Amino acid sequence: MATYKTEQKKALIDFLTKNSRRTFTIEEICREMEADPEYVLPPGRSTVYRLIPKLIEDNVVKRFYRGTSRKTVYQIVGGEDCIGHMHLKCTTCGRIFHMSTGISQELSKKIAEWDDFMVDAGQTMIFGICKECMKGEQI
Ligand SMILES: [Zn+2]
Ligand SMILES: [Zn+2]
Repeated sequence: MATYKTEQKKALIDFLTKNSRRTFTIEEICREMEADPEYVLPPGRSTVYRLIPKLIEDNVVKRFYRGTSRKTVYQIVGGEDCIGHMHLKCTTCGRIFHMSTGISQELSKKIAEWDDFMVDAGQTMIFGICKECMKGEQI
């Protein structure tokens, strides 16, 4: 049943890529994939539990805690779509934001001009505080 498993992994990556700005608990991933008509055979709960650690190992998914609830959530970062842009990491809530490719390229160009340094955008993480955390909102 190797192909079946590959299909489920592909569907999971596809779902997370489509929602790359959001973080999910495993329960939320299962619920939303089941509700999405695009996924005819959404992976079951046990499959998602098994696949997520593999995706973390492959550096495609990052794990962190949501706000003060200490709920473990997951977000796709570093997939194929992430090669072309830098990432912004909030040191307060731990979320990662995908920088827009245009701004990322602009910044890389400037750094190359000013500092004679070729930035590897997909590997670059800028640390700071996100909009919600600046406002002191709970996420
Ligand atoms: Zn990204
Ligand atoms: Zn934040």
